Amino acid sequence: MSHIIGLFHKISNFITKDTSSENESPKLLVVTRIIALSMLAYVTISFFFYINIINTFIIVFSLISFMTFLAIVIFSYRAKTSTIVYALNISILLWAASVLSYFGWNSGAQQFITVLLVLCFFSSYGKYKLKIYYAIALGIFRIYLYFVSHNTPSAAAYDDRLSYILQIINTAAIFWCISVIAYIFGKESRSLEYKLVTYNSKLEDQANTDALTELYNRRKAWEYLHEVIESGKHDYISICICDIDFFKKVNDSYGHDMGDVVLKQLAKTMKDTLEKYSFIARWGGEEFLIVFPDQNGDESFMLLSRLQDNIRAMQFTSGEKTFKVTMTFGLAEYDFNLGLDNALKEADEKLYMGKANGRDQIVF
Ligand code: GH3
Ligand code: MG
Ligand code: MG
Repeated sequence: MSHIIGLFHKISNFITKDTSSENESPKLLVVTRIIALSMLAYVTISFFFYINIINTFIIVFSLISFMTFLAIVIFSYRAKTSTIVYALNISILLWAASVLSYFGWNSGAQQFITVLLVLCFFSSYGKYKLKIYYAIALGIFRIYLYFVSHNTPSAAAYDDRLSYILQIINTAAIFWCISVIAYIFGKESRSLEYKLVTYNSKLEDQANTDALTELYNRRKAWEYLHEVIESGKHDYISICICDIDFFKKVNDSYGHDMGDVVLKQLAKTMKDTLEKYSFIARWGGEEFLIVFPDQNGDESFMLLSRLQDNIRAMQFTSGEKTFKVTMTFGLAEYDFNLGLDNALKEADEKLYMGKANGRDQIVF
C-alpha cells in the first residue's frame, strides 16, 4: 500500500513541478501539462481501437501525435509557459483536423476544441479581447471541420461496437480535461472568495467594535437601537446609561494606563453578567449603554443589581495599592409613544440624579 502511495506522490510531484522561470503561472503550466499527458494517453488508447483497420497512415499519424504530445510534456519543464500553451493549442487543432478528415465526424475529435475554449477563458494569461477573438476562431474552425469531415466519407468504417466504445472514451477524456481545468483554476477563486468573505466580516466587526473594551461602539449602538425599536418584535425595551464614578480620580491616582485597564475589566464584567440578556456598547469615554430587549424596567433593574454586585466585588491592583470602583446607572423603560430621544434623555437624567444622590446606585 505504501508503495502505491509513494508512487502516487512521485507522479503528482512530477506533474506539478514548475518551470525554473518566475513570473509565470504555475497553474496554467500544470494544466497544460496534464492535458498534454491526457492526449498522450488518448492517442495511445485509440491506436489500439484502429488495430483492425491498421495501415501505414494510422501508424505514422499515431506516432507523430504521440511524439508531439510527449514533446510538449517534456518541454513543459524547460520552455516558457506561453510557448507550451501555444504548442498545445496548435497540436490539438492540427490533430483534431487530421483525425476528423480521416476518420470522419463520428471520431468525436472536434470535442477537444471545446477543451481549448475552456482553457483559453480560465487561464489568466493574455488579454480578454484576444480570448474572445480566439473563441470565435475556434467556433468557426469547428464549423469548418464539420463541413469538411461530413462531406468526406469516413476512411475508417466504424462498426457499432467501436462507436460505443469511442463515445465512452471521448466523454471520459473531455470530462476529465474540462474538470482538471475548472478544478485547478476554480480552486484559486474559491479560496480568494473565502478570504474576501472573512476579511469583509472582520472589517465589519472592526467598524462596530470599540478597540479598547471590545464592546460595541456608539455607531453600532445607534444602529442597534433603531433596529430593535423598528423590528416591532419587542413588547418591552429597557435602556440604561451608566457611568464610572470618580473615574478622573482613578486616572489621576494610578495613571491613564491603569484607567484603561479598569475600563477593560469593567467591560468584561458587564459582558459576563449581562451579555445573555442585553446589548452593551461603549457610549462615550467612561459611559456605557445597555439595552435590554424583552425586559421591562423591573426585570432590567434586577439584572443591573446583579451587575452592581459583581462590580462591587472587583478589586484592582496598581503596584502595591489596591482599589475599588463603583458605577451609577440610569434606567428607563422605552415608551413607544414618546420615542428614542425621550428614552435616552430619561436614562441620562436618572444617571445624573444618581450622581447627585451619592453615586453607586441604580435609578429607575
Ligand atoms: P463622575 O462620578 O461624576 O462621573 O466623575 P468622573 O471623574 O468619572 O467624571 P468626569 O467626567 O469628570 O471624568 C471622566 C474621565 O474619564 C475623564 C477622562 O479623562 C476619563 N476617560 C475617558 N475616556 C477614557 C479612556 O479611554 N481611558 C482612560 N484612562 N480614561 C478615560
Ligand atoms: Mg464618571
Ligand atoms: Mg462621564
